[in-house]
Amino acid sequence: MQEFTESDVIERFESNVRIYCRGFPAVLASASGSLIRDNQGKEYIDFLTAAGSLNYGHNHPALKQAVIDYLAADGITQTLDFTSTAKVDFIRDFNQKILQPREMDYKMQFTGPTGANSVEAAIKLARKVTGRRPIAAFTNAFHGVSLGALALTGNRSKREAAGVALGDVIRLPFDGYMGEGGSTLDYIRKLFRDPSSGIDLPAAFIVETIQGEGGVNCASVEWLQGLSALASELDALLIVDDIQAGCGRSGSFFSFESMGIRPDLICLSKSISGLGLPMAMLLIDRRLDVWAPGEHNGTFRGGNLSFVAATAALAFWQEREFVSGLATRIERLSGGVADIVGSLPPHVARCKGRGMLMGIEFSEAAQAERTRIMAAERGLLIETSGAHDQVVKLMPALNVPLPLLEQGLRALAQAVRAS
Ligand SMILES: *Cc1c(COP(=O)(O)O)cnc(C)c1O
Repeated sequence: MQEFTESDVIERFESNVRIYCRGFPAVLASASGSLIRDNQGKEYIDFLTAAGSLNYGHNHPALKQAVIDYLAADGITQTLDFTSTAKVDFIRDFNQKILQPREMDYKMQFTGPTGANSVEAAIKLARKVTGRRPIAAFTNAFHGVSLGALALTGNRSKREAAGVALGDVIRLPFDGYMGEGGSTLDYIRKLFRDPSSGIDLPAAFIVETIQGEGGVNCASVEWLQGLSALASELDALLIVDDIQAGCGRSGSFFSFESMGIRPDLICLSKSISGLGLPMAMLLIDRRLDVWAPGEHNGTFRGGNLSFVAATAALAFWQEREFVSGLATRIERLSGGVADIVGSLPPHVARCKGRGMLMGIEFSEAAQAERTRIMAAERGLLIETSGAHDQVVKLMPALNVPLPLLEQGLRALAQAVRAS
């Protein structure tokens, strides 16, 4: 029998398409809270949280126990879109604990369990509602890699992999795209109000309030409000893709809370299940739920383990300790990032982001990747993002223990200095 090492197994048998493992050779074995362990016993502080799909940390005891209990009782695991107790519990709690307190009247569509699938559902529905084809999407946007979602995504190398035309998208400059001074919204308004601009009216605008993959770019409140008003004026829908910035990542459950906007459709995925299990949903303004039965389906819409964990995670949002603890962590993270940037010579780096989705953008793009490597050597897991991978992205768990947050920030500071 031929013995393969772990890296042999991956290199010989896993497709070239793999990416994260190329810059991080460890073989991950176990994890709890904000610590990941590899199979050699080395520990890493997790400031990546699986791209924001583990906002409550790894194997949170309450979520884990809920799933264990459900399985131990032979709870049904997969139910397509038949009614299950686990799904009813989730819908009831999501409505009671998340939507009602925020006076949000939305219906829930469970799509196939990836973010891209909820984006596909959103743009299909927007096109159906309005009878228009184009969707307006922004520079540096990331909405997924299935063809409809990919058409909305900015990244050229990902787009080129499509191999077919990616059409019916109007690309617009995100807030701040042109640098300081002058709002891109003025340009966007002018394009759509001018009947001879050559730009057709869109079915919807789809926007991330914080572009996680695109370089941790934040849209301002005024810009989002202006966009929302323009969408209403044009009878176009406003879709907020809250897949990465939602589920608490920005500091509140939805990333647009207290911004005075009311999206027509909201995409959620990544951390909605809380335990890193696959799940995605689309929140639909009640008046816009014009789907015919079965018009958008998918096998894995009834992942009951995801529903069970997701329901358990909703309880956190009722706990004062969790919510106030989140505010404390946000302060420490942004303070820590500001200190690191402030300790560098002028113009080397700048802070970006809000809530628990922060970034350090380097003037010399390659310094971000060097920082990532140095951080890994010091036991800190982070990623880079942005058009040139010039931004170090920091997304610790929302409940990261404060000593680990400090330790991670110290490791980051050393990594930046060493880079
Ligand atoms: C991750 C992500 C998606 C795509 O989700 P997948 O599960 O990878 O399909 C879409 N939008 C945003 C903002 C994301 O961060």
